[in-house]
Amino acid sequence: MSNKRILVTGGAGFLGSHLCERLLNEGNDIICLDNYFTGCKNNVKHLLDNHSFELVRHDVTTPYYAEVDEIYNLACPASPPHYQHNAIKTMKTSIYGAMNMLGLAKRTKATILQASTSEVYGDPIEHPQTESYWGNVNTVGIRSCYDEGKRASETLFMDYHRQNGVKIKIIRIFNTYGPRMNPYDGRVVSNFIVQAIKGEDITIYGDGSQTRSFQYVDDLIEGMIRTMRTDDSFIGPVNIGNPVEFTMLELAEKVLRLTTSKSKIIYLPLPQDDPHQRQPDICLAKEELGWEPKIQLEEGLEKTIQYFDKLISL
Ligand code: NAD
Ligand code: UDP
Repeated sequence: MSNKRILVTGGAGFLGSHLCERLLNEGNDIICLDNYFTGCKNNVKHLLDNHSFELVRHDVTTPYYAEVDEIYNLACPASPPHYQHNAIKTMKTSIYGAMNMLGLAKRTKATILQASTSEVYGDPIEHPQTESYWGNVNTVGIRSCYDEGKRASETLFMDYHRQNGVKIKIIRIFNTYGPRMNPYDGRVVSNFIVQAIKGEDITIYGDGSQTRSFQYVDDLIEGMIRTMRTDDSFIGPVNIGNPVEFTMLELAEKVLRLTTSKSKIIYLPLPQDDPHQRQPDICLAKEELGWEPKIQLEEGLEKTIQYFDKLISL
């Protein structure tokens, strides 16, 4: 059991709610900050009775003060339709949010972890992506508010570390899925499952040959916590993802089979700057964290389908 005061920004979101639950179960005191843009109280309502859990409505673009030992900075919309909905706000959340939380870490001497993303690699030319790859990112496209916001926050983390000695950790999360994803946030796993359950058309963007490597949420949370607990000399960035790569057509076929749905696949235009391929090299995570993903796609999809089945039948 550990007994730390831990701040989780974006704690009422998909990943944040799983992280809060896990840290709370380990005996820590949790402050969960969220402005409920893409997250909701419902995601953490099962934690509210625990007196070690505090839920605070707060926007990370403004400063927040509390005495804490660790900060997990997850606040930021993550699905393309949501982060493009107010692109300027997305950039503000990434940059001001990082600065405010880094300032707090500096004052309290807390260790702070940034939930960065595989999007820092953009539409990668190097494959699979190692942490030393600098990426191929469009600065002026519709995904740039998110990609460049996350890249700038990595820069801020490094500069607070070099200039002010702040204890930082940076993880680059690859596509993660699981229960408590917002069913309507437009990400591919939730879209396909919800469409299949409802018997609606499965919407593949482009010809479905683009790839992603999907990681189940429990694996991610384990990798994230292990990174936070490394000694101060390890700061990352470290890729946290499942290296098994699938095309979107393969994903659609798997979802159709696992849901025994009669939905048919339709093809819609590919959004601008949609990366063609994505696969993490996880050698660093294996070496430094002794971590690798344990839950493969079919098993994770089954758990996620069960969750959405229940949610949709409510
Ligand atoms: P999510 O949208 O479910 O969670 C984000 C949370 O942040 C939400 O609860 C939202 O309300 C909150 N938020 C947004 N702007 C805020 C603000 N200004 N102030 C306070 N709270 C704010 O998404 P998620 O999938 O849980 O992602 C969590 C983090 O992980 C994000 O930073 C995201 O960029 C990163 N990430 C996720 C994935 C993934 O596949 N899920 C991949 C790479 C990186
Ligand atoms: N995608 C799709 N159909 C959908 C939603 C997404 O084919 O209904 C595609 C999307 O174009 C992308 C991939 O699935 O190529 C992953 O999309 P997602 O938004 O989940 O994540 P990201 O593009 O940020 O990796």
